[in-house]
Amino acid sequence: MNGRSLAIDDGKCVSCGICIDVCPHGVLAFGEGRVRVDAIERCMECGACAMNCPTGALTVDSGVGCAYAVIRGALQGTAPDCGCGKGDCCT
Ligand code: SF4
Ligand code: SF4
Repeated sequence: MNGRSLAIDDGKCVSCGICIDVCPHGVLAFGEGRVRVDAIERCMECGACAMNCPTGALTVDSGVGCAYAVIRGALQGTAPDCGCGKGDCCT
């Protein structure tokens, strides 16, 4: 899935930068005076940005994609696999 569910509502964003600080993969960055998705391919859909956004500007379907794949792999004792069919894209 590679973070396709991540979205920013520019109308709600107050440019506090919290989402940039909490993202473990450097997906978000400031650009042209506002927060932008800088590296969508690194998003694991962990939900940390959305949970910490004070205005609800960020939405992401956490519990799917690579974050889900890592958890499922850990429980099954296998490599991360979200079922997208691409093989090792979540590692
Ligand atoms: S869902 Fe997680 S990895 Fe993706 S942008 Fe938010 S904090 Fe970063
Ligand atoms: S945490 Fe929310 S309000 Fe703050 S910069 Fe990120 S998207 Fe904007």
